[in-house]
Amino acid sequence: MGLKFMKRTIQEIETMIEGGEATVLTAEEVTRMVLDGEELSTDDVDVITTGTCGIMSGTLAIFHLPVAEPGAFKKASHILLNGIPGVPGPCPNEWLGSIDFIVYGTAHSLNDPNYGGGHLFKDLVKGKEVEVEVESSEGNVLRTPATLEDFGTAQLLGTRFAFKNYTAFVNPTSQPISSIFNAVDMLGPLKGISFSGCGELNPLQNDPELNILNKGAKVLLNNSEGIFIGQGTRSTLLKPNMMLTADMREMDSHYLGGYLTGAGPEVYNSVATAIPVLDDSILERTFIKNEDIKLPIADIRGRHSVLGETNYGTVWGGTDERPLYNEDDCRRCQQCLVEERCPTGAFQNNSLNLKRCFGCGMCSFACPYQIFHMKTGQVKMDCEGEELEIPVTCRQSDLKRARELAEELKNKVIKGEFSLRF
Ligand code: SF4
Ligand code: SF4
Repeated sequence: MGLKFMKRTIQEIETMIEGGEATVLTAEEVTRMVLDGEELSTDDVDVITTGTCGIMSGTLAIFHLPVAEPGAFKKASHILLNGIPGVPGPCPNEWLGSIDFIVYGTAHSLNDPNYGGGHLFKDLVKGKEVEVEVESSEGNVLRTPATLEDFGTAQLLGTRFAFKNYTAFVNPTSQPISSIFNAVDMLGPLKGISFSGCGELNPLQNDPELNILNKGAKVLLNNSEGIFIGQGTRSTLLKPNMMLTADMREMDSHYLGGYLTGAGPEVYNSVATAIPVLDDSILERTFIKNEDIKLPIADIRGRHSVLGETNYGTVWGGTDERPLYNEDDCRRCQQCLVEERCPTGAFQNNSLNLKRCFGCGMCSFACPYQIFHMKTGQVKMDCEGEELEIPVTCRQSDLKRARELAEELKNKVIKGEFSLRF
């Protein structure tokens, strides 16, 4: 279905923003107003911002890095950054002393099982120095430190970001299963559920037919202005996702990073979009609420074997964004299961770093003395005629970061710091 009619243009909305007359709301604010009985029209809302944050495996970075004087080596055959392997090329850069290369966000360090491409990207964006090791085609090894400032190019690209449709997972067997869809090996049978997605705040949930969010649309990717290149890999009209890119040097390290799963390090990112309300049909699509967004529950082993269904109202409603930790009650165990299982390293040496926390909820189940408190909700599921209540034990999307980025974008639009078009 296309647009019903064009009530106003982006240019008209931009003129209102310039004049300080535009109303900009987040998608959650719009939904709350509708639930409170307000009858919204294009007279009431001009721009709606959306957001999501979660594990996004289709992450890679395209880099160019000078490492030596021109003529120092013919070309690079291997490159490592903090032990993370990159792929040199496609340009060979013969005798230039510099290297074009690509690093996957899902790459794993050769030396440290808890360090991956997502950790490397966060370290670079934070301005940390990383150790670069290059093996030349002649077999010589060169080592040099580098910070993001030394890179000529550092462009992040998402091959499939911000899915509209996600699946939640359970383990129906009695054997633990390792998977990227759970922060540790998932216990069964049906001991917990893991899920992703930010429900009614998700970008494509608010523009499911990609009327506005399409090729050429502007986005905030980890708080850097980026562009929607086109639909991502495996994207379909029913299950769309976005291929995005932005300059890593403009990013905020808060919004991206590494996340440990049962199958090794993964990478998380945050995306926000702005939807100019051109007509009432565009506005009405953003009225979607969590309770109406279905979330199928599948067997974590196969992903496609659907065992039940819930919705985002159930998994996010009445839950906490972050855990409460009472340091005085902590027993300082020799082996701390929270420290072992926290996917972002937010709990170390009996100290909780809320800036690193992802709100996954693992700590509230890992500590045998229940020192961590966090409401993560539960899901009802039919199992051979019996109704089970399964706790949400792992969240792989961070609603808090998604809300922060949607709010950040809202403020940028209001201040005229984010124009709706390139
Ligand atoms: S397991 Fe619980 S009580 Fe023990 S050190 Fe960790 S947080 Fe503290
Ligand atoms: S919710 Fe708990 S386990 Fe999860 S990232 Fe935060 S501190 Fe770590």
